[in-house]
Amino acid sequence: MKNEKLENILSKQNFSKEEVIDLLNLDEKHDIESLFRKADQVRKDFCGEEVHLRGVIEISNHCDQNCLFCGLRDDNFTVKRYRMEPDEIIETAAKLVKLGIYTIVLKSGEDRKLDTDIIAHIIYSIKKSTNVAITLSLGERGLDEYKTWKIAGADRYILRHESCDSTKYAYYRNKKTHTNRIQQLKYLKRLGYQIGDGTLIGLPLQTIDEIADDMLLFQEMDTDMIAFSPFIPSPFTPFQNKPAGSIELTLKAIAVARLLLKNVHIPATTALDSLDPKGKEKGLKCGANILMPNYTPYPYRESYRIYPNRRDSNSDPFDSHKMLVDRISNIGRDISFSRGDSLRNSSFLHL
Ligand code: SF4
Repeated sequence: MKNEKLENILSKQNFSKEEVIDLLNLDEKHDIESLFRKADQVRKDFCGEEVHLRGVIEISNHCDQNCLFCGLRDDNFTVKRYRMEPDEIIETAAKLVKLGIYTIVLKSGEDRKLDTDIIAHIIYSIKKSTNVAITLSLGERGLDEYKTWKIAGADRYILRHESCDSTKYAYYRNKKTHTNRIQQLKYLKRLGYQIGDGTLIGLPLQTIDEIADDMLLFQEMDTDMIAFSPFIPSPFTPFQNKPAGSIELTLKAIAVARLLLKNVHIPATTALDSLDPKGKEKGLKCGANILMPNYTPYPYRESYRIYPNRRDSNSDPFDSHKMLVDRISNIGRDISFSRGDSLRNSSFLHL
């Protein structure tokens, strides 16, 4: 792209869809570096130098769904299924609080056996002695369940839509509807949840045009956290022989989202780190301000295989924590000891 045109786009406060596409299509090394530099500056101006840690506990790998891209899909008979006991989950959360992690992410497939009351009990038990933020990532659940869990103390909900093209959405997610996903996200927002969404970069048939649409949808929905992860093919899924998503395009998506949405929270995902040994650092240097380390205890952590060869799935979660702290300080950033609530709406601040 001509220098003048790139500088003109980068100087804007808002982008048209065509400009988002232009930025995602940048291919000259020095153009991409200009994009990353600008995104890093915007991250510094709007979010500061702190990196917020969201401690993930994968509480169950059972799933009733059959998304084509996911290793946990119901039809994958090779997965050794587990469901953690409520007390184990509550104890693991307490260990994270001792480490200074003030957001606990409870993550699972769509597992109906983790019913409304069990989840409410876990949330309430964690929250009764500490003001950590609780993020739920449990898939599409009933509207009454969302309400009950909010009352029990949940703060955030992650429901990634992965693709805003409704035909492809139904294909990737085995006939589920994009409209329902968006309605659920809107409902969660109305209930007072901070919402998280995301896109898998490099899904089969995905186009740059669709990634641009995803970004504009995040802007319209006033999403509080957005994640871009490279697609990684998983064995025993219909997409097992498809190529992995591009790291470079994932990093460009992070950078463009930072420029477009300014103070949104953006993680450098574990998937990025699984494809590139410096994936987390690269993400944090082009707009990301969040890391989501996995603290799922043994023996469960090896069995939560959305994709294969996930970085840190075989290491001790508490040893990995020390390494993570070093990686963050090696790039001159600080770890936050706050909850890291949404920066997009001051009514969410509980610091
Ligand atoms: S993406 Fe989520 S809902 Fe779909 S199969 Fe995987 S765990 Fe289940």
